[in-house]
Amino acid sequence: MSALAHSIDPSAAAEQELTDGFHLVIDALKLNGIETIYGVPGIPITDLGRMAQAEGIRVVSFRHEQNAGNAAAIAGFLTKKPGVCLTVSAPGFLNGLTALANATTNCFPMILISGSSEREIVDLQQGDYEEMDQLAIAKPLCKAAFRVLHAADIGIGVARAIRAAVSGRPGGVYLDLPAKLFSQVMDAEAGAKSLVKVIDPAPAQIPAPDAVKRALDVLKGAKRPLIILGKGAAYAQADETIRAFVETSGIPFLPMSMAKGLLPDTHPQSAGAARSTALKDSDVVVLIGARLNWLLSHGKGKTWGDAPKKFIQVDIEPKEMDSNVEIAAPLVGDIGSVVAALLAGLDGTWQAPPADWVNTLNTKRDENIAKMAPRLMKNSAPMDFHGALGALRTVIKERPDAILVNEGANTLDLARGIIDMYQPRKRLDVGTWGVMGIGMGFAIAAAIETGKPVLAVEGDSAFGFSGMEVETICRYNLPVCIVIFNNNGIYRGLDTDPTGRDPGTTVFVKDSRYDKMMEAFGGVGVNVTTPDELKRAVDAAMDSGRPTLINAVIDPAAGTESGRIGNLNPQSVVKRKS
Ligand code: ADP
Ligand code: MG
Repeated sequence: MSALAHSIDPSAAAEQELTDGFHLVIDALKLNGIETIYGVPGIPITDLGRMAQAEGIRVVSFRHEQNAGNAAAIAGFLTKKPGVCLTVSAPGFLNGLTALANATTNCFPMILISGSSEREIVDLQQGDYEEMDQLAIAKPLCKAAFRVLHAADIGIGVARAIRAAVSGRPGGVYLDLPAKLFSQVMDAEAGAKSLVKVIDPAPAQIPAPDAVKRALDVLKGAKRPLIILGKGAAYAQADETIRAFVETSGIPFLPMSMAKGLLPDTHPQSAGAARSTALKDSDVVVLIGARLNWLLSHGKGKTWGDAPKKFIQVDIEPKEMDSNVEIAAPLVGDIGSVVAALLAGLDGTWQAPPADWVNTLNTKRDENIAKMAPRLMKNSAPMDFHGALGALRTVIKERPDAILVNEGANTLDLARGIIDMYQPRKRLDVGTWGVMGIGMGFAIAAAIETGKPVLAVEGDSAFGFSGMEVETICRYNLPVCIVIFNNNGIYRGLDTDPTGRDPGTTVFVKDSRYDKMMEAFGGVGVNVTTPDELKRAVDAAMDSGRPTLINAVIDPAAGTESGRIGNLNPQSVVKRKS
């Protein structure tokens, strides 16, 4: 029994209205506009989920915590409110932790709430049920971690978690709730008063006028300027301001993967299909919510060419500046405020970028698009990646408000380039880590948070990490259409064991029928072998809104090792005679 519960005179309790830890957690989340919880029930949070559902919060129960965590993370990206994932102690917590770390790496606001065991026993390491010092373990993997020991502190604990997740650079937060907390009681009125509604959880951060002027001066000196839009720009929901800045400046732009659609990929200023030339030959680069990490070759080396380059970087995180190369004009602030200030600075003296630069990029882009076109129209069986993706490209063109979830190796790399996006925050993928396993979690949250149809384009290997959630998709009857690019394995389906004993390490059961998995739970399963069949099946799924899984048979010889990042594989120099 807690000290607080003790202080209530049992005889008076009959008339006194009481609340407890369960209800305070729920009330605190509701007060702060949290409408959905993603999680997996179990000790000690089973009743918390039940009660939250009874109180009107949507509680979506998954089959594995990692998928629930990924769902919460992408809900955070899509809504700018922290996505909440609820798990049991120790193993459930650890399963959720992968998603929490991934959310932090990707700057997605998320709160992992895990039940935990008795502090007294955990701290003396006396062997409790699912004993683990979860707070200590979570700390290095997220932005902030808190534990609440008293019911009266739940309001503050939840408020701190929310503010930590969404303010500044967004990220993951861990909130540790020991089992005992839930049944602690306190006076209902005092409980209500202890709750905190977070005011202005992500305050605008206005850039310094000097910094804006410095950036404009650098920009005005550019001969070959380029704007790179990252997923921070997509997250910021400053779509109109960003579009106005790009169009008013006339500067070519390049979207990072999850920033595709912020301006349509078919926009006349898009340099998407001239990426190599744009990076190599630009002289001033404006980074808006994109980091110079491995995905941009750290801002140096062959990718960026030999000519001197100046970077203007817009980011809410001051420490991001100079992380890889010198930033000539750091612009620290929120993207909405900074881009508005830059736009205001494009006054009468602004001159459109030199025509030869714009023409060079446009010519290169149009050439590359023309080169690709015939490959996308190939209607062969079995399909290659280009033929299959050509069909899906048309689907998204015809249904630009659908959300595309994408993971795999070749399936990811090629889809990123081939499938044009037309609207902001419609492309959700493996992000900063290039991690597999986000597929079904992202697809489920995308459907729930937006109500839009979801198309999940999955490598057969990538799908395996979250595949059991097809049951969840059927259970909640979500408008999710999964297309599995089934090439019998990882990268390709042809590997063999040189000793002849086992299957090769990168192959799966030949000619599997993933579509049958969906049928097992009452969804629609379809097997297709040509791009035409694929297009028809996806259209039918999207028209009906029914959970659908399409097994798309891809030539096992069609892929390449690690897709476009095969160069990251270390090479052995030792040749053994066997
Ligand atoms: P990408 O992978 O698309 O290049 P990154 O995840 O590397 O994108 O970069 C996103 C950047 O955006 C991060 O450095 C993050 O700090 C920044 N960011 C996120 N939200 C905002 C915001 N509202 N305002 C400014 N910067 C933001
Ligand atoms: Mg495969």
